[in-house]
Amino acid sequence: MTQPLIMVGAGHAHLVTLRGWIEQGYHAPPGSLLITPERYAWYSGMMPGLLAGRWQTEHCRIDLAPLCNATGMALQEGQLVQLDADSRFVTLASGQQLRAGVLSLNSGASNPAPEHDNSIPVIGAKPFGDLYQHWQQWRRSGAPARLAILGGGAAAVELALALQKALSECQILLFSSNPLLSGQPPRAARLIRTLLLRRGIALHEGATISRIENGYLHATTGDPVAADAAILATGAAPAAWQHSSGLATDSAGFIRVSATLQSQSHPSIFASGDCAALAGCPRSGVYAVRQGPTLGANLRALLRGQQPQQHYQPQPRALALLATADQQALACYGPLAIHSSAAMWLKDKLDTDFMRSLQMD
Ligand SMILES: Cc1cc2nc3c(=O)[nH]c(=O)nc-3n(C[C@H](O)[C@H](O)[C@H](O)COP(=O)(O)OP(=O)(O)OC[C@H]3O[C@@H](n4cnc5c(N)ncnc54)[C@H](O)[C@@H]3O)c2cc1C
Repeated sequence: MTQPLIMVGAGHAHLVTLRGWIEQGYHAPPGSLLITPERYAWYSGMMPGLLAGRWQTEHCRIDLAPLCNATGMALQEGQLVQLDADSRFVTLASGQQLRAGVLSLNSGASNPAPEHDNSIPVIGAKPFGDLYQHWQQWRRSGAPARLAILGGGAAAVELALALQKALSECQILLFSSNPLLSGQPPRAARLIRTLLLRRGIALHEGATISRIENGYLHATTGDPVAADAAILATGAAPAAWQHSSGLATDSAGFIRVSATLQSQSHPSIFASGDCAALAGCPRSGVYAVRQGPTLGANLRALLRGQQPQQHYQPQPRALALLATADQQALACYGPLAIHSSAAMWLKDKLDTDFMRSLQMD
């Protein structure tokens, strides 16, 4: 049997697609499925606030069951481990095989990891559930004495500051292979360097960790540094199944899509958010959210046998708001960077409005 539509992953673009369908009163064809590892989808924008103690679990995750009920999608807990793009057969970790008429992939990305043994926990910032479980355990039974965070972008900085606030007895070490916040204006990096220093976070800038062995982080230069746990906020790495799927991918393994968000090689397969490669589109939640309306309209068109018409055009720049776990946030836009409580107010408003828009009461 072929399911008319299979959506894989409850990423930002799928959430906005489902929200749009509810607003439009649209029901997916009977037999359509959303495959997701768990019933709840975590909202990454609020994760640092959750770790810092600003938010509770229920503020930061979306119950997918009501969204699916309202759109005629069946919610199936599971994880895709293999895809054959030509036949559109998906294989789940349970061994179950399903065939899709139309397939939509919004399954995010993981974090590139250096070579490592099992001497210390090495935890990806995504999927967030793993990090959250470690954080809960650290709060219950004691935090690691030295916690290393690998990465120098917005997520790494937010996690370092949030964990320093939550685990005050823990020494936080931040290793950034590139200059800190290299995608943001230079003033943003200057403000954050000062803040890290004031909060006692050891910043190792220009340090690429190539290996973690026997509890030591080995950089390409300098002496090894001891750590008791490491968190990876190292950017995006594609899932292994993407590479072997037969879909056209870029050299890294991300799925090449056109402006309609259809696979360049298999037009009955869509990809959006971090798992996709689209010229001019950075990988971030803001851009994944903006893809939602285009994806929703184009999926509807293809499901009724028409050509998808809507084109997604990435905005040239986006406002970045980094929570600094001190009741303030750093707002970056173009060449501007401002650290203030007004920026935190704005971040809270945008985040809570987004979450409210996805809650079905
Ligand atoms: C700490 C942190 C803070 C961040 N803050 C921000 C921010 O403030 N603003 C911003 O724009 N970006 C932020 N980001 C980046 C942002 O999280 C990602 O760019 C964004 O989540 C990508 O969204 P997505 O739609 O691709 O899917 P994701 O949100 O990554 O969701 C993918 C979903 O697919 C599921 N999935 C994964 N694999 C499978 C599989 N094999 N089968 C089935 N389901 C699967 C996952 O469980 C998940 O629910 C942050 C990242 C981190 C780590």
